[in-house]
Amino acid sequence: MNSKPTTDPVCGMKLGEGAAKDFLLYEGREYYFCSVGCRAEFERHPEDYAERAQSKTE
Ligand SMILES: [Zn+2]
Repeated sequence: MNSKPTTDPVCGMKLGEGAAKDFLLYEGREYYFCSVGCRAEFERHPEDYAERAQSKTE
């Protein structure tokens, strides 16, 4: 398990190493969040956020 920097798919906050407060496994991918609230929001609309996170290639 590596903990490379990632981006919170809900609020767009950049999460450096160790900054993620919560994560979720959705369709085989790990998503990291800055807070429990953002994870809860992801769980409300997982398709929307997962798609957004994967299409972002910048
Ligand atoms: Zn967030």
